Amino acid sequence: MSSTHLASETAIRLGLFLGVFAVMALWEWRRPRRALTVPRLGRWASNLGLVTLNTLLLRVAFPAAAVGMALAAEAHAVGLLNQVGLPFWAEAAIAIVALDLAIYLQHVLFHAVPVLWRLHRVHHADLDFDVTTGARFHPIEILLSMFIKFAAILVLGPSPEAVVVFEVLLNTTAMFNHANVRLPERLDRVLRLVVVTPDMHRVHHSVEDDETNSNFGFNLPWWDRLFGTYRAQPCYGHEGMTIGIRGYRDPRQVDRLAGMLALPFRGRVTDYAINRRQWSRGESKVNDAR
Ligand SMILES: [Zn+2]
Ligand SMILES: [Zn+2]
Repeated sequence: MSSTHLASETAIRLGLFLGVFAVMALWEWRRPRRALTVPRLGRWASNLGLVTLNTLLLRVAFPAAAVGMALAAEAHAVGLLNQVGLPFWAEAAIAIVALDLAIYLQHVLFHAVPVLWRLHRVHHADLDFDVTTGARFHPIEILLSMFIKFAAILVLGPSPEAVVVFEVLLNTTAMFNHANVRLPERLDRVLRLVVVTPDMHRVHHSVEDDETNSNFGFNLPWWDRLFGTYRAQPCYGHEGMTIGIRGYRDPRQVDRLAGMLALPFRGRVTDYAINRRQWSRGESKVNDAR
C-alpha cells in the first residue's frame, strides 16, 4: 500500500462517512424511533463540532493512523498474522473478528475503570440518541482508543487492507446502530444475529445502570451474548426509556461543546458505572448500612 493509496483511502473514507451519514439522517427524518427531547440544531452543532475537532486532532497526532501501524508491522514482520501466509479473505476475517473483540473489551474497560468512565461519560451524556451520538467521544478517549488499537495491531499483525476494511465497517455500523430509526421487529431480530442494531445499542444509552452496563458491542453482537452482557430490550421500552446519565441533565454541561470537553473533570472520582447501582431506598442509606 503506497502513499497515493493512503491519500485516496482518506478521500474514500470521508466520502463514505458523509454518504452513510446522509442516508441515516434521512432515514431518521422519515421514520424516527423516538421523538427528540432537546432541539436538534444546537445538539448537532455540538456533536459534529466534537467530531471535527477529533478528526483534526487525530490527523495531527497520528497522520498515518492505524493503517500506518499495520504497514510498519508488516514491514518488520511483527504480529501473529504476519508469521503465517493465510489467503487474504481468511486473514481479513480473523483480523476483523479479533479487532472487534478488542474494541468490545476496551468499551467494557472504559465503563469499569473510574477515570476512564469519566472520559466515556461524554458519549453517554447525550440527552438524545441519533446518528451524531455515534461519533461523540471526548478527544482524550479518542487518543487512548488509538493507542489501544495500535497495541492490538502490533500483537495481531493484520494487513493494512484488513485494517481499512475493519475501520470502514466500524464507522458505518457505529452510525447505523446509533441511528434514531425504526426497524420492523422481525428484521431487527434477524439482523441482530450478525450486527448490532439501533434497538440493541440504544439499551446501552439508558440511564438505568444495569442497561448502561450491557450491550457493549459496536459492530458484532456476539461478544455481549458470549460474555453475559446482553440485554434484549430496555425495561421501560424504547419510547419510555430515558437516554443519558442520571444527574447529568444540564444542557450547558452535556449539550454544549465547552461543557462536553470539561465533563470528565467534573464530579466525584468514585462516580462510575460498573458495580454502582441506584437503589430505590437511596444510595447513601445502603452505603451507610454496609
Ligand atoms: Zn459505553
Ligand atoms: Zn453508543
